[in-house]
Amino acid sequence: MKFAIDNKQDTNICATCGTRYATAKQAGDGCTICNDDRQYVLESGQHWTSYEAIAGSHTILIIERDKDLHDLRLVPAFAITQRTFLVQSPGGNILWDCLPFVDEPTAIFIQSRGGLKAIAISHPHYYSLMVAWAKIFDCPIYLHEADQQWIMDKHDHIALWSGNQKQLWDGMSLVHTPGHFPGSIVLHMPHHGAQGTLLTGDSIFVSRDRKQVGFMYSFPNYVPMPSADVRIIHERLAPLAFDSMFSAFDGLNVYTGAKEIFTKSVKRYLEIIGSNAS
Ligand SMILES: [Zn+2]
Ligand SMILES: [Zn+2]
Repeated sequence: MKFAIDNKQDTNICATCGTRYATAKQAGDGCTICNDDRQYVLESGQHWTSYEAIAGSHTILIIERDKDLHDLRLVPAFAITQRTFLVQSPGGNILWDCLPFVDEPTAIFIQSRGGLKAIAISHPHYYSLMVAWAKIFDCPIYLHEADQQWIMDKHDHIALWSGNQKQLWDGMSLVHTPGHFPGSIVLHMPHHGAQGTLLTGDSIFVSRDRKQVGFMYSFPNYVPMPSADVRIIHERLAPLAFDSMFSAFDGLNVYTGAKEIFTKSVKRYLEIIGSNAS
Protein backbone atom coordinates (compact mmCIF):
# COMPACT_ATOMS: atom_id res chain seq x y z
CA MET A 1 0.00 0.00 0.00
CA LYS A 2 1.33 3.40 -0.96
CA PHE A 3 -0.89 6.35 -0.19
CA ALA A 4 -0.64 9.13 -2.77
CA ILE A 5 -3.19 11.27 -4.60
CA ASP A 6 -2.43 12.92 -7.94
CA ASN A 7 -3.47 16.48 -8.82
CA LYS A 8 -5.16 17.16 -5.49
CA GLN A 9 -5.99 20.76 -6.32
CA ASP A 10 -7.47 20.14 -9.78
CA THR A 11 -11.21 20.72 -10.12
CA ASN A 12 -11.72 17.29 -11.67
CA ILE A 13 -14.53 15.89 -9.48
CA CYS A 14 -18.24 16.49 -10.18
CA ALA A 15 -19.87 17.76 -6.97
CA THR A 16 -23.24 16.21 -7.87
CA CYS A 17 -22.28 12.65 -8.83
CA GLY A 18 -18.72 12.38 -7.48
CA THR A 19 -17.18 11.25 -10.78
CA ARG A 20 -13.51 12.06 -11.18
CA TYR A 21 -12.34 13.12 -14.64
CA ALA A 22 -8.87 12.65 -16.11
CA THR A 23 -8.35 16.40 -16.48
CA ALA A 24 -9.44 19.51 -14.58
CA LYS A 25 -12.79 21.06 -15.53
CA GLN A 26 -13.74 24.69 -15.93
CA ALA A 27 -16.97 26.48 -15.08
CA GLY A 28 -19.32 25.77 -17.98
CA ASP A 29 -17.97 22.27 -18.64
CA GLY A 30 -20.66 19.60 -18.36
CA CYS A 31 -20.53 16.21 -16.60
CA THR A 32 -21.27 13.26 -18.89
CA ILE A 33 -22.73 11.21 -16.03
CA CYS A 34 -25.02 14.00 -14.77
CA ASN A 35 -26.17 14.92 -18.28
CA ASP A 36 -27.35 11.34 -18.83
CA ASP A 37 -31.10 10.88 -18.34
CA ARG A 38 -30.59 8.71 -15.25
CA GLN A 39 -29.05 11.65 -13.39
CA TYR A 40 -29.58 15.40 -13.30
CA VAL A 41 -27.88 18.78 -13.23
CA LEU A 42 -28.85 20.95 -10.26
CA GLU A 43 -31.01 24.00 -10.83
CA SER A 44 -28.00 26.05 -9.76
CA GLY A 45 -25.93 24.45 -12.54
CA GLN A 46 -22.89 22.21 -12.80
CA HIS A 47 -20.39 22.37 -9.93
CA TRP A 48 -16.82 21.04 -9.89
CA THR A 49 -14.66 20.40 -6.87
CA SER A 50 -11.23 19.03 -6.01
CA TYR A 51 -9.83 16.25 -3.85
CA GLU A 52 -8.29 18.89 -1.61
CA ALA A 53 -11.65 20.63 -1.05
CA ILE A 54 -13.35 17.33 -0.15
CA ALA A 55 -10.47 16.42 2.18
CA GLY A 56 -10.94 19.71 4.02
CA SER A 57 -14.55 19.02 4.88
CA HIS A 58 -15.15 15.23 4.87
CA THR A 59 -14.02 12.03 6.50
CA ILE A 60 -14.87 8.37 5.91
CA LEU A 61 -17.07 6.49 8.34
CA ILE A 62 -16.37 2.75 8.56
CA ILE A 63 -19.04 0.43 9.95
CA GLU A 64 -18.57 -3.28 10.65
CA ARG A 65 -21.55 -5.29 9.32
CA ASP A 66 -19.92 -8.53 10.43
CA LYS A 67 -16.38 -9.79 10.81
CA ASP A 68 -15.81 -10.10 7.05
CA LEU A 69 -17.84 -7.13 5.79
CA HIS A 70 -17.46 -3.41 6.42
CA ASP A 71 -19.21 -0.54 4.70
CA LEU A 72 -17.66 2.88 4.23
CA ARG A 73 -19.23 6.22 3.36
CA LEU A 74 -18.42 9.91 3.40
CA VAL A 75 -19.54 12.11 6.27
CA PRO A 76 -21.07 14.56 5.94
CA ALA A 77 -22.92 13.18 2.91
CA PHE A 78 -21.44 14.08 -0.48
CA ALA A 79 -22.65 13.61 -4.08
CA ILE A 80 -24.72 10.42 -4.57
CA THR A 81 -23.90 9.29 -0.98
CA GLN A 82 -23.30 5.64 -1.84
CA ARG A 83 -21.47 3.17 0.37
CA THR A 84 -18.48 1.12 -0.61
CA PHE A 85 -17.94 -2.32 0.94
CA LEU A 86 -14.75 -3.98 2.10
CA VAL A 87 -15.22 -7.72 1.61
CA GLN A 88 -12.64 -9.82 3.42
CA SER A 89 -12.04 -13.28 2.00
CA PRO A 90 -9.29 -15.90 2.50
CA GLY A 91 -8.13 -15.67 -1.12
CA GLY A 92 -7.98 -11.86 -1.09
CA ASN A 93 -10.16 -8.87 -0.30
CA ILE A 94 -12.46 -6.95 -2.65
CA LEU A 95 -13.65 -3.38 -2.53
CA TRP A 96 -17.20 -3.41 -3.87
CA ASP A 97 -18.21 -0.07 -5.41
CA CYS A 98 -16.19 3.03 -4.69
CA LEU A 99 -16.23 6.49 -3.08
CA PRO A 100 -15.36 9.92 -4.49
CA PHE A 101 -12.72 10.27 -1.76
CA VAL A 102 -10.10 8.21 0.06
CA ASP A 103 -7.89 9.27 2.97
CA GLU A 104 -4.82 7.78 4.57
CA PRO A 105 -6.50 6.49 7.77
CA THR A 106 -8.98 4.56 5.61
CA ALA A 107 -6.21 3.13 3.44
CA ILE A 108 -4.27 2.09 6.57
CA PHE A 109 -7.41 0.43 7.98
CA ILE A 110 -7.96 -1.55 4.77
CA GLN A 111 -4.29 -2.52 4.66
CA SER A 112 -4.56 -3.77 8.27
CA ARG A 113 -7.33 -6.08 7.05
CA GLY A 114 -5.20 -7.51 4.27
CA GLY A 115 -5.35 -4.81 1.58
CA LEU A 116 -7.21 -5.25 -1.69
CA LYS A 117 -6.84 -7.92 -4.36
CA ALA A 118 -9.36 -6.16 -6.61
CA ILE A 119 -11.97 -3.44 -6.87
CA ALA A 120 -15.29 -4.28 -8.57
CA ILE A 121 -17.82 -1.56 -9.32
CA SER A 122 -21.51 -2.15 -9.96
CA HIS A 123 -22.02 0.64 -12.54
CA PRO A 124 -20.78 4.10 -13.63
CA HIS A 125 -22.49 6.11 -10.85
CA TYR A 126 -19.89 4.67 -8.47
CA TYR A 127 -16.75 4.79 -10.61
CA SER A 128 -15.96 7.98 -8.61
CA LEU A 129 -12.31 8.02 -7.47
CA MET A 130 -11.63 4.43 -8.59
CA VAL A 131 -8.24 5.06 -10.19
CA ALA A 132 -6.81 6.70 -7.05
CA TRP A 133 -8.00 3.73 -4.95
CA ALA A 134 -6.52 1.23 -7.43
CA LYS A 135 -3.17 3.01 -7.46
CA ILE A 136 -2.96 3.01 -3.64
CA PHE A 137 -3.57 -0.76 -3.48
CA ASP A 138 -2.01 -1.60 -6.87
CA CYS A 139 -4.98 -3.74 -7.85
CA PRO A 140 -7.26 -4.19 -10.88
CA ILE A 141 -10.68 -2.54 -11.22
CA TYR A 142 -13.25 -4.94 -12.72
CA LEU A 143 -15.84 -3.12 -14.83
CA HIS A 144 -18.31 -4.65 -17.26
CA GLU A 145 -17.41 -3.75 -20.84
CA ALA A 146 -20.99 -2.76 -21.68
CA ASP A 147 -20.41 0.44 -19.68
CA GLN A 148 -16.99 1.35 -21.03
CA GLN A 149 -18.30 4.52 -22.69
CA TRP A 150 -18.91 5.90 -19.18
CA ILE A 151 -15.30 5.63 -18.02
CA MET A 152 -14.17 9.24 -17.54
CA ASP A 153 -10.77 8.47 -16.03
CA LYS A 154 -9.17 5.76 -18.16
CA HIS A 155 -6.22 3.89 -16.64
CA ASP A 156 -4.25 0.65 -16.99
CA HIS A 157 -5.67 -0.62 -13.69
CA ILE A 158 -9.12 -0.92 -15.30
CA ALA A 159 -9.83 -4.50 -16.42
CA LEU A 160 -12.97 -4.83 -18.53
CA TRP A 161 -14.85 -8.12 -18.54
CA SER A 162 -17.74 -9.38 -20.64
CA GLY A 163 -20.41 -12.06 -20.53
CA ASN A 164 -23.01 -13.00 -17.92
CA GLN A 165 -20.70 -13.93 -15.06
CA LYS A 166 -17.11 -13.45 -13.97
CA GLN A 167 -15.83 -16.03 -11.53
CA LEU A 168 -13.52 -14.61 -8.85
CA TRP A 169 -11.97 -16.62 -6.00
CA ASP A 170 -13.42 -18.37 -2.91
CA GLY A 171 -16.57 -19.08 -4.94
CA MET A 172 -17.35 -15.38 -5.39
CA SER A 173 -18.62 -14.09 -8.73
CA LEU A 174 -19.70 -10.92 -10.49
CA VAL A 175 -23.06 -11.34 -12.21
CA HIS A 176 -24.18 -9.15 -15.09
CA THR A 177 -27.59 -7.68 -14.15
CA PRO A 178 -28.44 -5.08 -16.82
CA GLY A 179 -31.27 -2.58 -16.51
CA HIS A 180 -30.11 0.36 -14.40
CA PHE A 181 -27.11 0.52 -16.76
CA PRO A 182 -26.33 -1.85 -19.65
CA GLY A 183 -23.30 -3.16 -17.75
CA SER A 184 -24.69 -3.17 -14.19
CA ILE A 185 -23.41 -6.03 -12.05
CA VAL A 186 -23.85 -7.52 -8.57
CA LEU A 187 -21.36 -9.38 -6.37
CA HIS A 188 -22.38 -12.84 -5.14
CA MET A 189 -20.59 -14.30 -2.13
CA PRO A 190 -21.91 -17.85 -1.53
CA HIS A 191 -19.81 -18.53 1.58
CA HIS A 192 -20.53 -15.26 3.33
CA GLY A 193 -23.05 -15.10 6.18
CA ALA A 194 -25.46 -17.91 6.89
CA GLN A 195 -26.44 -18.83 3.33
CA GLY A 196 -24.68 -16.42 1.02
CA THR A 197 -24.70 -12.66 0.48
CA LEU A 198 -25.47 -10.40 -2.47
CA LEU A 199 -24.05 -6.89 -2.83
CA THR A 200 -26.49 -5.29 -5.25
CA GLY A 201 -25.27 -1.77 -6.14
CA ASP A 202 -28.27 -0.12 -7.82
CA SER A 203 -29.38 -3.26 -9.73
CA ILE A 204 -31.66 -4.31 -6.89
CA PHE A 205 -32.81 -1.52 -4.60
CA VAL A 206 -33.56 -2.61 -1.05
CA SER A 207 -36.61 -0.62 0.06
CA ARG A 208 -36.62 1.49 3.20
CA ASP A 209 -38.70 -1.13 5.02
CA ARG A 210 -36.16 -3.86 4.06
CA LYS A 211 -39.07 -6.19 3.27
CA GLN A 212 -39.14 -5.62 -0.49
CA VAL A 213 -36.92 -4.52 -3.35
CA GLY A 214 -37.41 -2.30 -6.39
CA PHE A 215 -35.86 -1.95 -9.84
CA MET A 216 -35.22 1.47 -11.35
CA TYR A 217 -33.66 2.80 -14.53
CA SER A 218 -33.38 6.18 -12.78
CA PHE A 219 -33.86 6.77 -9.06
CA PRO A 220 -33.74 10.60 -9.00
CA ASN A 221 -35.95 10.91 -12.11
CA TYR A 222 -38.37 8.13 -11.08
CA VAL A 223 -38.10 5.98 -14.21
CA PRO A 224 -38.81 2.27 -13.63
CA MET A 225 -36.60 -0.44 -15.10
CA PRO A 226 -37.94 -2.17 -18.23
CA SER A 227 -39.57 -5.44 -17.20
CA ALA A 228 -37.49 -7.35 -19.78
CA ASP A 229 -34.39 -6.41 -17.76
CA VAL A 230 -36.03 -7.43 -14.48
CA ARG A 231 -36.71 -10.85 -16.05
CA ILE A 232 -33.01 -11.16 -16.99
CA ILE A 233 -31.92 -10.21 -13.47
CA HIS A 234 -34.32 -12.81 -12.06
CA GLU A 235 -33.12 -15.53 -14.42
CA ARG A 236 -29.47 -14.92 -13.58
CA LEU A 237 -29.92 -14.76 -9.80
CA ALA A 238 -32.50 -17.54 -9.43
CA PRO A 239 -29.84 -20.32 -9.39
CA LEU A 240 -27.75 -18.54 -6.73
CA ALA A 241 -28.15 -18.94 -2.96
CA PHE A 242 -28.20 -15.80 -0.83
CA ASP A 243 -29.84 -14.99 2.48
CA SER A 244 -28.58 -11.43 3.04
CA MET A 245 -28.22 -8.50 0.68
CA PHE A 246 -26.96 -4.95 0.85
CA SER A 247 -27.67 -2.17 -1.62
CA ALA A 248 -25.80 1.05 -2.13
CA PHE A 249 -27.20 3.30 0.60
CA ASP A 250 -27.01 3.47 4.35
CA GLY A 251 -29.64 1.41 6.15
CA LEU A 252 -30.63 -0.66 3.11
CA ASN A 253 -29.57 -3.97 4.59
CA VAL A 254 -31.40 -7.30 4.58
CA TYR A 255 -29.83 -9.71 7.06
CA THR A 256 -32.04 -12.71 6.46
CA GLY A 257 -34.65 -13.94 3.96
CA ALA A 258 -33.15 -11.94 1.06
CA LYS A 259 -33.80 -14.54 -1.65
CA GLU A 260 -37.48 -14.77 -0.74
CA ILE A 261 -37.82 -10.98 -0.67
CA PHE A 262 -36.13 -10.73 -4.08
CA THR A 263 -38.27 -13.46 -5.66
CA LYS A 264 -41.54 -12.10 -4.26
CA SER A 265 -40.68 -8.54 -5.36
CA VAL A 266 -39.84 -9.65 -8.92
CA LYS A 267 -43.17 -11.44 -9.19
CA ARG A 268 -45.08 -8.38 -7.99
CA TYR A 269 -43.11 -6.05 -10.27
CA LEU A 270 -43.87 -8.12 -13.35
CA GLU A 271 -47.54 -8.39 -12.38
CA ILE A 272 -47.82 -4.61 -12.08
CA ILE A 273 -45.78 -3.32 -15.01
CA GLY A 274 -44.85 -6.38 -17.01
CA SER A 275 -47.93 -6.76 -19.19
CA ASN A 276 -46.64 -4.67 -22.11
CA ALA A 277 -43.06 -5.80 -21.76
CA SER A 278 -41.01 -6.74 -24.75
ZN1 LIG B 1 -21.68 14.47 -12.44
ZN1 LIG C 1 -26.95 4.28 -10.09
